[in-house]
Amino acid sequence: MDFALTEEQVSIFDMAYAFGQDQIAPHARTWEAEGTIPKDLWPEVGALGFASLYVSEDAGGAGLSRLDATLVFEALSMACPSVAAFLSIHNMCAKMIDTFADDDLKARVMPGVLSMNTVLSYCLTEPGSGSDAAALRTRAERTNEGYVLNGTKAFISGGGYSDAYVCMVRTGEDGPKGVSTVYVEDGTEGLSFGGLEDKMGWRSQPTAQVQFDNCNISSGSLIGEEGQGFKYAMMGLDGGRLNIAACSLGAAQTAINSTLAYMGERKAFGQPIDQFQGLQWRLADMEIELQAARTFLRQAAWKLDTQQPDATKFCAMAKKFVTETGSKVVDQCLQLHGGYGYLADYGIEKLVRDLRVHQILEGTNEIMRVIVARDMLKNR
Ligand SMILES: Cc1cc2nc3c(=O)[nH]c(=O)nc-3n(C[C@H](O)[C@H](O)[C@H](O)COP(=O)(O)OP(=O)(O)OC[C@H]3O[C@@H](n4cnc5c(N)ncnc54)[C@H](O)[C@@H]3O)c2cc1C
Repeated sequence: MDFALTEEQVSIFDMAYAFGQDQIAPHARTWEAEGTIPKDLWPEVGALGFASLYVSEDAGGAGLSRLDATLVFEALSMACPSVAAFLSIHNMCAKMIDTFADDDLKARVMPGVLSMNTVLSYCLTEPGSGSDAAALRTRAERTNEGYVLNGTKAFISGGGYSDAYVCMVRTGEDGPKGVSTVYVEDGTEGLSFGGLEDKMGWRSQPTAQVQFDNCNISSGSLIGEEGQGFKYAMMGLDGGRLNIAACSLGAAQTAINSTLAYMGERKAFGQPIDQFQGLQWRLADMEIELQAARTFLRQAAWKLDTQQPDATKFCAMAKKFVTETGSKVVDQCLQLHGGYGYLADYGIEKLVRDLRVHQILEGTNEIMRVIVARDMLKNR
């Protein structure tokens, strides 16, 4: 058993960390205030290979493992978890297209996806179905040329901003077997967007409904096979859960780093506050919990990379544990900053707001427990 990162993995982390600190961190608050991430950031991200992290090298991707990808997201989220998490969604969609789309669709869209001149959104949730995603109702009816789409997707990260949408739609019977996945380009007639959602965190990412009103797409826009779309959507999520957890981990590490510095400078009762033993113990607890979260996350990533039979369970357990630990840590860091923690200038309150949603999306943490318990009961 070897817990050390390889030299290559350390370089991957360092490259992502340097890019985040140079190109993202100085702008994170402005982008949050503006409610958008400048589109010209993404081709720079693409040039580093971060738009196609686990697309194979043969297909022009970075060909990294899931564990490598968690390092990228941990490092980037040390600059801004909202920007890092948005990139995770693009990567999830890129992998789905690379794995399941036919050669014609790949030839048409992958060059833009790899360079990230084409930014992708993932559309599964609907107003009436979130956790119970297989109950989705957006319909795709066959026509002579392809499909006509009708329905609404809710909470879509990048809705109205992205260049294309990877959408789970119903082509057949009720339930998961009637779901297919289609690729819908921005500008397609019949595709429109709801107003921007006003959110607690992740405010630099636009979130909106994606609406289809007699939206016609060609038959070549089907990704993979009809009726397999729910399976594709769920396969994307194991990796997505690791990435979201990595975003909580990186942001919490940043919060601990700045709290350590702050506690050395801030004085109360004639001494730096880092001299109070009660506060030192809180620091120690945060360090213990975050290191445990990091080890657990990397073990889950290793399970997915080596296709262990319990990989899905471990991804779910890690997502639940790391996102809750991350939120607990950033909240404690805010407390250790006193009133200053509550001020935007100190950067901690943004992390508290940004990390909260990691317990809700990519499957809520209740659904993570459902996955774990189901596995335990099945194998007892
Ligand atoms: C900022 C943001 C961005 C998002 N981005 C995207 C995106 O890009 N693409 C996308 O497709 N979706 C996206 N989502 C949607 C997200 O995935 C859903 O909100 C999430 O899956 C939960 O669904 P829901 O909101 O409908 O809650 P519900 O499913 O209605 O759940 C309500 C509550 O009931 C609990 N619950 C439900 N079923 C069970 C059960 N069986 N056992 C125990 N508890 C249960 C849930 O855990 C939750 O606490 C985003 C959401 C947010 C907030």
